[in-house]
Amino acid sequence: MEYRRLGQSGLRVSVLSYGTWVTFSEQGDFDRALQCLDIAGRAGVNLFDTADAYGGGEAERLLGLALETLGWDRATYVLATKLFAGTRDCVNMRQTLNRKYLLQGIDDALDRLRTDFVDLLYCHRPDPHTPMEETVWAMSDIIARGKAHYWGTSGWSPAQISDACAIAERHHLHKPTMEQSEYHLLARDRIERDGAAIHRDHGIGLTTWSPLASGLLTGKYAQGVPVGSRAAVRGYAWLQPQLCNVADNQRVQQLQAVAQRFGASAAQLAIAWCTRHPAVASVTLGASNAAQLRENLAAAALAPLLNDQTMRELDALFPAAVSAD
Ligand code: NDP
Repeated sequence: MEYRRLGQSGLRVSVLSYGTWVTFSEQGDFDRALQCLDIAGRAGVNLFDTADAYGGGEAERLLGLALETLGWDRATYVLATKLFAGTRDCVNMRQTLNRKYLLQGIDDALDRLRTDFVDLLYCHRPDPHTPMEETVWAMSDIIARGKAHYWGTSGWSPAQISDACAIAERHHLHKPTMEQSEYHLLARDRIERDGAAIHRDHGIGLTTWSPLASGLLTGKYAQGVPVGSRAAVRGYAWLQPQLCNVADNQRVQQLQAVAQRFGASAAQLAIAWCTRHPAVASVTLGASNAAQLRENLAAAALAPLLNDQTMRELDALFPAAVSAD
């Protein structure tokens, strides 16, 4: 496994990480979680990603229990969670980055995760209703109190991240270290335009999500929604129109043809492609079972084999919507 520096920080994260959205909550199963974490750990994955939003805290709970059961040395892995959604049903505790929620939210998350600190703490979305200064002070205080080692953002614009960096510099606070954005062959701009800019201008490390577009890039939605797949999970029917998009599924067939030349699957090629962006530190995988995870982890070995001609072929098949310049 390759380890990359998370932006300008000194922290090194595995180029493939493992996340828990849907799979550790709505599809949650303790034995499967344990098995998948064990497989990831043995493959060299050192970064595990969750959020208080996933299943209203269920994913954090299952991840915490599984990590405790595995008994890994806490120094050997990097644990990431995110705050914004909230899990308490009262005013000030939902969809916010106010100080009161952030200080309560980290304590609640640490309880569920059964740990004294997370390594990475993200503001899961921007909050237009809380002054940026309040959020930056609160995140910096959480770090100062030892409850998180680095803080970052997810789904923030370059302007919002620049603003946060400027406030932190002005007050000598802890600056944001990382941004987590969607990145896959069908959604390139957030990393190739915005992510690359904040990486260049502020040294922000980039982690990425949904490398398979929730499963679309495996080819599994070519004939409709398979039983047991994410789009069939209760509460996730909203994904069906995009996952069953005919034109995208036709392009995935061409992706499969390219992958076959390497003796690989479309999923492996799609994940390997994500790792090739030089500003990306870690591509966070999702997998709902052990077989998927084993298949996806093998993308690490495929990535160095993708030559310029293959990258150009993929560019032509899945062009970026806007120029990265
Ligand atoms: P993917 O796009 O890779 O989708 C993962 C899902 O696709 C799996 O759960 C599985 O669903 C299916 N799948 C994966 N591999 C295979 C395979 N080899 N063959 C067939 N089906 C496969 O990633 P996620 O959308 O899960 O995102 C990864 C992580 O990123 C999340 O777990 C989360 O930690 C993070 N994330 C962060 C967000 C943010 O806002 N910051 C937003 C979204 C995710 P199934 O078997 O059910 O069909």
